Amino acid sequence: VVKVYYEVIKLTTTTRFQLLDITSSVEDVVKKSGVKNGLVLIHAPHATASIIVNEHEPGLLDDIIEKVKELTEPGSSKWKHNMIDDNAHAHIGSALFGSTRVFPVVNGRIVRGTWQNIFLLEMDGPRSLREVVVMVMGE
Ligand code: ZN
Repeated sequence: VVKVYYEVIKLTTTTRFQLLDITSSVEDVVKKSGVKNGLVLIHAPHATASIIVNEHEPGLLDDIIEKVKELTEPGSSKWKHNMIDDNAHAHIGSALFGSTRVFPVVNGRIVRGTWQNIFLLEMDGPRSLREVVVMVMGE
């Protein structure tokens, strides 16, 4: 029998750019789901944030945020969206880096590399509420 388990992780961000490690929260949801073999989908239902996967090393997290800024150019006058809002860079980042990641689940565990942690990438914080949808499907 295929199970579908759905949960929303609620987060608060405290700065404009931030990487929040949600790996253990996602692992908890997989455990609670009871799914042994299947898939876990991690989705940020936001147009100005992304879900990314990488190593949790403080220097590297700073490096990633630096590169995100370099690529998305916050405050640039060339972005038309900045004429009606001030967050074109965050929309562009979300479009480039994506809102969703999917992992296999095998024997009740997320199949991921040792250096593959799961992060919400905030690009337009601080926000009192950011949600991450986790859907676990399988048997
Ligand atoms: Zn906007």
